[in-house]
Amino acid sequence: MINKKQKFGTRAVHAGQKPDPLTGALVTPIYQNSTFVFSDVAQGAARFAGQEEGYIYSRLGNPTQAVLEAKMADLENGEAALAFASGMAAMTAAVMAVVESGHHIIVDKTIYGCSYAFFSELITKFGVDVSFVDAVNPANIASAMRDNTRLIFVETPANPTLKIVDLETVSEIAHRRGAKVVVDNTFATPYLQRPLDLGIDIVVHSATKYIGGHGDVVGGIMVSNKEFLDEVRMTTLKDIGGVISPFDSWLLLRGLKTLALRMEKHCSNAMAVALFLEEHPAVERVYYPGLTNHPQNVLAKKQMDDFGGMVTFELKGGLDEGIALMNNVKMCHLAVSLGDVDTLIQHPASMTHSVVPWEKRLEAGITDGLVRLSVGIEEPEDIINDLDQALRG
Ligand code: PLP
Repeated sequence: MINKKQKFGTRAVHAGQKPDPLTGALVTPIYQNSTFVFSDVAQGAARFAGQEEGYIYSRLGNPTQAVLEAKMADLENGEAALAFASGMAAMTAAVMAVVESGHHIIVDKTIYGCSYAFFSELITKFGVDVSFVDAVNPANIASAMRDNTRLIFVETPANPTLKIVDLETVSEIAHRRGAKVVVDNTFATPYLQRPLDLGIDIVVHSATKYIGGHGDVVGGIMVSNKEFLDEVRMTTLKDIGGVISPFDSWLLLRGLKTLALRMEKHCSNAMAVALFLEEHPAVERVYYPGLTNHPQNVLAKKQMDDFGGMVTFELKGGLDEGIALMNNVKMCHLAVSLGDVDTLIQHPASMTHSVVPWEKRLEAGITDGLVRLSVGIEEPEDIINDLDQALRG
């Protein structure tokens, strides 16, 4: 249920959940069970036939997971949501529910490395054609459209270059030709950007990142209309089985309660760090959608409520200087993943995007010298001081 009267931070705490009806427990219990008892054969048969609401088996749904799904649907202004074991499980389930052999997909060339591997190597094994384009210019999507194009996939802000894709324009282009658009909203979270409001059909998340927020869980979310998600639940979720555990659902629910607070701090810290880096003599270039020199700064302001916690940059000199910086940090952690309360620094070319072939990486703007920073919620002075001492070597 969408309650537009309450603000996001309130909904992040309250939406989708009520005290446990059996015990009054305020926090949603972890229903740590795989199966559910039917009162009789008729009830079991009715649930399998979809004629009666109710639980069957935890691969198809579980009460803790259901609360997480209800909260995420509310926050993304969607009809329904579905939780998965990982962001990759959510994204691949969405794609496989939409396309079949003979169909064509258009994908932005700047996306997370494993998503790139899925589109370039895995889905193509099943008779699906994939075109990679630069979606920053929506005209590139329009000209790549074919009669058999069924799906367009983009990330915005994109991992790792933080380029911004115009979601309203892309959904118009897709819908004119009967295709669906899937957006990976991991970097923005629903706190900053709600793609369904801009006409997007399906939102996916690596909930491992800001939604969990504490680096202690791997999970994924899909948000869309109920009819589509009912179909996904009973096809790609049920038969491929990338199901989230009740405990991980509970961790994500706990993370979501503080999403608004954390995102506010991530955003203000990231802006402070981006401004510091921009002025630093050792830094060649900073990519942050909140900087006025970011090529899509105006679009980011229009489509997002703030600019997020990710900052990417290149040092003068390039790769060796970037490696020295990453080896020199003391408080920031040299680690992949993002969206944690701790600041994380990593090297996309040798880590998160190492599966993307070198020339394709360069086409996507992922140079060897690029450094990606997931700015945490520590005090900004401490993050800046650590980067400053690391830059001095
Ligand atoms: N989407 C983006 C933008 C990511 O950065 C990642 C992981 O880093 C994923 C999807 C995959 O998520 P997961 O690791 O939860 O499978």
